[in-house]
Amino acid sequence: MSLEERLRVVKEFAGLTDEEVGILRNTGSLDLELADRMIENVIGATHLPLGVATNFLINGKDYLIPMALEEPSVVAAASNAARMARMRYGFRASADEPVMIGQVQVCKLRDPQAARERILEEKGRILERANEQDPVLVKAGGGARDLEVRVLSTRLGPMVVVHLLVDVRDAMGANAVNTMCEAVAPLIEELTGGKVYLRIISNLATHRMARAEASFPKEALGGEEVVEGILHAHALAEADPYRCATHNKGIMNGIIAVALALSNDTRALEAGAHAYAALEGYGPLTSWEREENGDLRGRIELPIAAGILGGAVSVHPVARVCRKILGVSSARELAEVMAAVGLAQNLAALRALVAEGIQRGHMRLHARNVAIAAGARGDQVEKVVRRMVEERCIRIDRAREILAELEGG
Ligand code: NAD
Repeated sequence: MSLEERLRVVKEFAGLTDEEVGILRNTGSLDLELADRMIENVIGATHLPLGVATNFLINGKDYLIPMALEEPSVVAAASNAARMARMRYGFRASADEPVMIGQVQVCKLRDPQAARERILEEKGRILERANEQDPVLVKAGGGARDLEVRVLSTRLGPMVVVHLLVDVRDAMGANAVNTMCEAVAPLIEELTGGKVYLRIISNLATHRMARAEASFPKEALGGEEVVEGILHAHALAEADPYRCATHNKGIMNGIIAVALALSNDTRALEAGAHAYAALEGYGPLTSWEREENGDLRGRIELPIAAGILGGAVSVHPVARVCRKILGVSSARELAEVMAAVGLAQNLAALRALVAEGIQRGHMRLHARNVAIAAGARGDQVEKVVRRMVEERCIRIDRAREILAELEGG
């Protein structure tokens, strides 16, 4: 169906009004026809608020960090943590070379060990075949670099899994790696006599780690008791996956918001982060310790497969502007920024949790959404918010009552 036909059918199916169809058509700076080329069955484009996190000093450079998300208080929290970090030295961050793993699964082998050796003997040929697929990447300084061969025992017998290690430079790399995996598969079958099924990137990008560390003055955090609380919160995340899931979710609040602003693959980042966190039993992606002077030092380390070109990154007009605002010149630099944001987000969440509780800051911001959902417009919003916060009752029914009073009066 054409876009127009789709809109007509969906309108009929869901009983949409002309106004509602108009809302779908209003795709802002992402042109509807461009959206239609990005994914399938397009009927519109959705919008998220785009904020900018401030105060970030990373490796001595100042950044304004675009973040796209629907959740209140994340941008404020990141900016606040970054403000405290810059009282010391900001964030020190680093990222590995952007090497991704492509997997080729070889099954039905009579002698998996012999197959493994055969593949390693012909490493040069396999890498050459892979690199023939992407002269642009090779010219940009990337390409297939090495092979690892693992023999796994599975429910359906032994399998050989070839890891093609590809330096994807400034791309996230999935398309580039998948193309290479598909191209080397026939050669691997020929060499081993086995049957290849899967040929695809692994999102557990353990060769593409990013890390950041920062120190936060205890006075800025709210004193020794807050530092002590954060250390206890971290200990709980280490001991308890129920807490750890939320600990890591808070980290990803920041990283995913940056990824969305730059139109990166958020699912790939989430999958990589949580799989890495679970490698030795699910654990926190950050660690916290008290320095000799009582200040708090934090570290984060996780795989970050993010790109500044390729995929939707170079297509989405807002992503292109966001990249310019962020001012990163390589995928590695982007990974460093994301790691710093993840650490800042974790610090802010832990500090709020152990100091005043997460709801104080959160609910004030949330109150705005509640007021708007209740129908408040213009200056009514702030009036309704103020009343609800004063009354410590942030609920839609109360917002409606206050609104009715305001309108009545
Ligand atoms: P891409 O293929 O659009 O761009 C990468 C290509 O750009 C390279 O292969 C290279 O030819 C070219 N290029 C030019 N200059 C470059 C430079 N300086 N550095 C690197 N490459 C340069 O995109 P991609 O990053 O290979 O793939 C990303 C897309 O794949 C995302 O949209 C993602 O959603 C999707 N995807 C993900 C998965 C997964 O994560 N499991 C699976 C399939 C597809």
